[in-house]
Amino acid sequence: MKSYRKELWFQTSKRRELINITPDVEKCLHESGIKEGFVLCNAMHITASVFINDDESGLHKDYEKWLEKLAPEKPHSQYNHNTFEDNADAHLKRTIMGREVVVAITAGKLDFGPWEQIFYGEFDGKRKKRVLVKIIGE
Ligand code: ZN
Repeated sequence: MKSYRKELWFQTSKRRELINITPDVEKCLHESGIKEGFVLCNAMHITASVFINDDESGLHKDYEKWLEKLAPEKPHSQYNHNTFEDNADAHLKRTIMGREVVVAITAGKLDFGPWEQIFYGEFDGKRKKRVLVKIIGE
């Protein structure tokens, strides 16, 4: 069995951003040389997510509106967590959107369903953060 590990780094200019990281994960898969197996992709921070969905701009705006209804950023004072920080909303958003995804690798490719793409969801950005890509197989 082969094993591959890489960290992808991001620094968003906005507090919240969704980034399609599918090309980065495909590059990792190519580098790994693995043809059959699994790729695990997870945010290494508790205020960011990795999830799979459609790369459609309307949907991305819908995520922003939906997440702001569930866990509005402001007022910061509404959250018990926000004594020394202001990112309670980002922790809650990350929990809803998930920590990681696992994708099957078949014949050297990510074995996606229709329109599936991998996203990094940043909810407390403007600083360097990373995603772990771990691939196992042969
Ligand atoms: Zn915090």
